Amino acid sequence: MEDVGNRAVGAQGLAPLQSVKDLIVIGGGPAGTAAALEARRRGLTVSIWERDRFPRHKVCGEFISAESLMILEEEISFAAYRPAVIRRSEFISPRGRVHGFALPHAARGLSRRLLDRALWRAAAARGAEMHEGEGARSVERIPPVNGRPIEWELRSVSGIKGRSLALAICAGRWWSLEGIPGPAKSGGAHGGEWFGAKAHFAKISASDAVEMYYFPGGYCGLAPIEDGLYNACCLVERGLARDASRPEIADFASWIARVSGHGALADRLRAGSQISMTVTTAPVEPARRRADHHGALMAGDAAGFLDPFTGDGISIALQSGRLAARCLAESLNGKRDSEEMAQAPPVYRGKLTEAVGRSYRLAGLLRALVRAPSWLQESVAASLPWLGPRLEARTRWRNAASNGERTSAERPAAKGARQLDAREASDLNQEPLERKLL
Ligand SMILES: Cc1cc2nc3c(=O)[nH]c(=O)nc-3n(C[C@H](O)[C@H](O)[C@H](O)COP(=O)(O)OP(=O)(O)OC[C@H]3O[C@@H](n4cnc5c(N)ncnc54)[C@H](O)[C@@H]3O)c2cc1C
Repeated sequence: MEDVGNRAVGAQGLAPLQSVKDLIVIGGGPAGTAAALEARRRGLTVSIWERDRFPRHKVCGEFISAESLMILEEEISFAAYRPAVIRRSEFISPRGRVHGFALPHAARGLSRRLLDRALWRAAAARGAEMHEGEGARSVERIPPVNGRPIEWELRSVSGIKGRSLALAICAGRWWSLEGIPGPAKSGGAHGGEWFGAKAHFAKISASDAVEMYYFPGGYCGLAPIEDGLYNACCLVERGLARDASRPEIADFASWIARVSGHGALADRLRAGSQISMTVTTAPVEPARRRADHHGALMAGDAAGFLDPFTGDGISIALQSGRLAARCLAESLNGKRDSEEMAQAPPVYRGKLTEAVGRSYRLAGLLRALVRAPSWLQESVAASLPWLGPRLEARTRWRNAASNGERTSAERPAAKGARQLDAREASDLNQEPLERKLL
C-alpha cells in the first residue's frame, strides 16, 4: 500500500485526482477523522473530504464524555486545549429545583471549534490526503472490470474527482449525495421535529457541573468549556422555535428565556455575556439509520443520531469511525477482491448494533419525557441521583473489545497523552476567540 503522504488539495485550478486510494472518507467531523486516523494506523491510503473549513462553530453541548476522552487522549494533545473538568450533572426544573449526581467518571468541556480542528490536523499529520472546504457532491460505484475490485468515484462540488476501493460516509445527521440515498431528500422540506441552537458565554460563575435546564418541549444544557467560558446549547420542539426571528435569536439569553419560560436559566445566562454568534441547526431527529449501503459504511451520526441529552454522540462517532475503518482494513488486507471486501458491511453492521442498539431503545423511552407535563418531569428528575448514573452507563458504547479498544482499566493514565507539536501550540496561542459582545 503506497503512502502518498499528506497533500493539501482542494484549491481551485488543481487537476482532477486520479490515484486510487484504499479509502475515501466523506465528512471531517469526529467520525470521519477517527476513521481516517484508524485507517492510516492500519496502513491504508486515505483521502478525506469536508465541505466546511476549520475552525468553525457547531451546534453541540460540547460535553466530552469519559468514553470520548479515552480516544481523544490517544489522537490529539487533548489536555493542552485546557478543557474544563466536569464532575457532576445537575437537572434544574422550571421551578428552580436542582437534582444532581456525581458522574461515575469525570468528563470534560471543550468547544467543537477547537476539537474538530485538532482532529482534522491530526489526520493530516498522520498522512491522510485532506480536502478541506471541498464538499462531496456525488459518489458512483464502478463495477468490477477484468477481476479488479469495485471502485468508488467521488466528485466534489467544485468538480475534483477521487477514486477508492472503499467508502466511509461520515457526513453527520443531515447529508445529501447523488448516488447514495441520504436523509436530506431533494427539496429538503421533510425533517425532524427538533431545533438546536447554541452560543458561548463569558463571565458565568464557575461550576464543575453540566447543568441541564428542562421544560416542557425542550431542554438547554450549560457546560463549562475551555478558558473559563460556558457553552449554552438547547434542543427544543420546532413548534416552540417557529417564531424565533433571526434578529431575536442572536441574543440567545433573551430568546431561550422566552421560549423556555425557565427563570433559573434566564438568571444564569443574563449574569454572563454572550461572546459568540448564535448558531442553529434543524431539523434534528434522533433515529437509527442504516449502517451501510452497497458496500459503503456509514459512521457517526450518519449511521444514527442518539438523543443529545445522553452526552455521548461524539464518543459514538469516534468509536464507530474507528470500527468502520478497522472492518474495511481487515477486508482490504487480503487479496483485495470484491468477494473479500463484501465481508466488511455485515461485520460492521453486527458490531455496531451490538455497541449501540440498546442505547437507542433506552434513549427513545427517555425522549418521551421531554414532552411530558412538568409534574411528571419533576418526579422523574427527583429520582435522578439514583437513576442518573445507571442511565448514563446504559446509553454508552458497549463491547469496546470488539472495536479493538482497551477498557478504561487497561489504559495508561491520562498523563500519557502526547504533547502539543509546535504548529498546534502556535495555533492555540493565536486562536481568535470571538469575544465581541452581541
Ligand atoms: C443540540 C445538540 C447537542 C449535542 N450535544 C452533545 C454533547 O454535549 N456531547 C456529545 O458527545 N454529543 C453531542 N451531540 C451529538 C454530536 O454533536 C454528534 O453526535 C457528533 O457531532 C457526530 O459526529 P459526526 O462526525 O458523525 O458528525 P458531524 O460532527 O456532524 O460531522 C459531519 C461532517 O460532515 C460534513 N459534511 C456533510 N456533508 C458533506 C459532504 N457532502 N461533503 C463533505 N463533507 C460533508 C459536515 O460539514 C461535518 O463537518 C449534540 C448534538 C446536538 C444536535
